[in-house]
Amino acid sequence: MDRQQEFVLRTLEERDIRFVRLWFTDVLGTLKSVSVAPAELEAAFEEGIGFDGSAIEGFARVFESDMVAMPDPTTFQVFPFEGGVSGESARMFCDILLPDGGPSWADPRHVLRRALSKAAEKGFTFYTHPEIEFFLLENGPQDGSVPIPVDTGGYFEHTTHAVARDFRRQGVLALERIGISVEFSHHEVAPGQQEIDLRYADALTTADNIMTFRHVVKEVALSTGVQASFMPKPFTDQPGSGMHTHLSLFEGERNAFHDSGDPMKLSKVAKSFIAGLLVHAREYTAVTNQWVNSYKRLFPQHLPDRITESPAYVCWGHLNRSALVRVPAYGKPNSARVEVRSLDSAANPYLAFAVLLGAGLKGIEEGYELPPGAEDDVWSLTSAERRAMGYEALPENLAEAIDVMAGSELVAEVLGEHVFDFFLRNKRAEWEQYRREVTPYERQRYLAL
Ligand code: GLU
Ligand code: MG
Ligand code: MG
Repeated sequence: MDRQQEFVLRTLEERDIRFVRLWFTDVLGTLKSVSVAPAELEAAFEEGIGFDGSAIEGFARVFESDMVAMPDPTTFQVFPFEGGVSGESARMFCDILLPDGGPSWADPRHVLRRALSKAAEKGFTFYTHPEIEFFLLENGPQDGSVPIPVDTGGYFEHTTHAVARDFRRQGVLALERIGISVEFSHHEVAPGQQEIDLRYADALTTADNIMTFRHVVKEVALSTGVQASFMPKPFTDQPGSGMHTHLSLFEGERNAFHDSGDPMKLSKVAKSFIAGLLVHAREYTAVTNQWVNSYKRLFPQHLPDRITESPAYVCWGHLNRSALVRVPAYGKPNSARVEVRSLDSAANPYLAFAVLLGAGLKGIEEGYELPPGAEDDVWSLTSAERRAMGYEALPENLAEAIDVMAGSELVAEVLGEHVFDFFLRNKRAEWEQYRREVTPYERQRYLAL
């Protein structure tokens, strides 16, 4: 047994914790959990916990369904605020193994680990910093009716909207107590919409943190009598919930994106990385924006008092919030980074980070040239102007996104054959189900024909 494992067992005993939750994530990004008694944990560290993989979305075909969840002791965390018989519980993320002990090709955590080790071979560590937007709702109706946001607040609003403010305070405290550092939190543009930004960390830690974040935010919401939703676009006439993510590569202690000699302060590595993000953007969008509903957010919308700020065109810029990739101004060299603005809050963070890293590394490997930045408002150009400037449109719906992804060697390589095939099959089925649905919009417009 190693030191980390011993630490886990000792902590459980000292704090008299009776429940340890073992967490992992399915291919669609849903958190799965199995509880074990502390007495079982020593054996679990040796052999893992067996389970039926065929019952988990994307994990196995039935005839090879035995899988093993192997707890990762470096992710051990006590949850001091949760109920339970003896007050506290704890959790660890797991890696999923096949019965022969090899990693499961279906495990999203493994997909990301594989992408990270490819970066490590080139001497890079990949850091991510997500800005997570979500809605706080008075209720969460399951019948498709429109939910009611908890307030009528707007961007950075402070005084009048006590529910959201109390919620953010409690939520942020809960996150800090389990070791997830929050950098900013504020009210977002839409009524009931919140944003909480996590401090940057290596991408595997960030992805684990995002899964934990969603769980904690939902729990804290429930405990205050409201509901949290990470749906990309719950309201027709309000902005959706994005998960803009800032990316950087480090070589040891040095930020590999920074070059003080460059007019834009961007290194060659950064420029090729951005070029990779752009060249392959249409191919990985099905992963960063994986639901039918994701595409209701992913284009600029003229609302009565504003235009929504989600990207629809493949281009980059400095100040430009309509661009897919933005390079924020920064002070310290180690803060050099790029912000990808397409991701939404319902993406599987492991897979999304893996494809973004894969696209950026491809740009570095192939020495892609960075096209000129878009300093115009790309939204306000005509489509002919956009074509002339070479700005391609992101996929308009899930069907188009899947079609483009199906032809992508890069995404196939990053996800691995199993996840790639499962994902395409699953998403095609989702599209077919949606496609046959006759909506209230259509009845309103066409019934009188
Ligand atoms: N909610 C916007 C989106 O859908 C982003 C707003 C912002 O710039 O933070 O991406
Ligand atoms: Mg925001
Ligand atoms: Mg942002």
